[in-house]
Amino acid sequence: MVASAQAGLGAGGEPATGSEWIARRLLALPADRDPAGHPLVAGDPALAAAVAVERARRSPDFTAWDGLVGPHPFLEEQLTGVLSPTRLAGYATCPRRFLLSRVLGVDAPEEPDEGPEVGPLRRGTILHETLERFLDAAGVEALPDADERRRLLDVAADRFDAAQAAGGVGQPVLWRIEQDRLRTALERWLNEHRALRRDLGVRPFGAELAFGDDGDALGGLEVGLPGGRSVRMGGRIDRLDTDEHQGVVLVLDYKTGDDKPYQKIAEDPVLRGTQLQLAVYALLARARWPGAKVLARYWFLGSRTGAGGWRGFELDDEAERAARAALDVIVEGIAGGVFPPRPGEYDDFRGEFANCRTCPFPRVCPAAGERERSWHRARRAPQVARYRDLAEGPRDRGRGGP
Ligand code: SF4
Repeated sequence: MVASAQAGLGAGGEPATGSEWIARRLLALPADRDPAGHPLVAGDPALAAAVAVERARRSPDFTAWDGLVGPHPFLEEQLTGVLSPTRLAGYATCPRRFLLSRVLGVDAPEEPDEGPEVGPLRRGTILHETLERFLDAAGVEALPDADERRRLLDVAADRFDAAQAAGGVGQPVLWRIEQDRLRTALERWLNEHRALRRDLGVRPFGAELAFGDDGDALGGLEVGLPGGRSVRMGGRIDRLDTDEHQGVVLVLDYKTGDDKPYQKIAEDPVLRGTQLQLAVYALLARARWPGAKVLARYWFLGSRTGAGGWRGFELDDEAERAARAALDVIVEGIAGGVFPPRPGEYDDFRGEFANCRTCPFPRVCPAAGERERSWHRARRAPQVARYRDLAEGPRDRGRGGP
């Protein structure tokens, strides 16, 4: 039995290939001799690059091979035009993933949405469409409770029929169960919709409101950042409510997943930069209705197992500073070409890193252990300091920190 590939190469006998012959010559070098200087390596650009990668991975430094790309005009181009908050938030989660998907354009493998049950994306679309059409049909004024409920369920039935006609809703028996669940979620939403009207005195101003370009329903949004840049942001707000005098503005973003990841949103309105949508919508509301009290809420329509409800914050000066500061770190990180891999916390139960669990690029990224080592090399580097503080907090240096 051969203990390892390296042991096999050192075991003697005739080399089977030219590559094996080269590998044996390099392995035979004295320990203090740098293989990069060997003529066999210097004369072969591919081999020289492989030696450079291996050397970088063994060094304590944050190098190009860990994601230190450095500034480049192409990266500046990424920051011109209208930027989406979701896109920028992807950098905060894992800069390497942002580099692969958004800068290099590596395609994620297609996820087939053909399971026995309707998939989560489709489910979210059905709910969003139902609520948008209901608000269009119902207008801003309250109807008698029974009429409002009937109207909502009629719109839902119409959307269920449309989804079924389009196909991909899973097995008939499970689709019927799913429709019951969706109706339950919608009735809960209606109660919460009435509570907003009652408690805050607000009415829907509009749904699916675009912003970013001057011709959009809510116009453009230029956000000045503490570092001196300004960026144009755009997107589509699920729903915006105001009170009669527009002294209160409420921006709402519907979520169909669990509310667990958002539990700290009241303390940290951008969740370490990983959730920028609501904060950017709130900045838009502040720019359009200066002087109004701006409230921002994620509205949980109920995951398959979860309850509904809201989580959010008021855009006070502190929240606004936090939003602009997070955007600044992200934008400067992209412009500076700083793209370390950040796998996130290790989940012992699942046996994987939190950020890698939903990432489509585990085969492009180095192996899990190497990703973690690469992040720990990177997080000590001065180029990564601001991102590390955003992602981990300035006082939480974690293991391996300075
Ligand atoms: S596999 Fe993990 S570390 Fe690599 S890009 Fe994806 S999230 Fe980042």
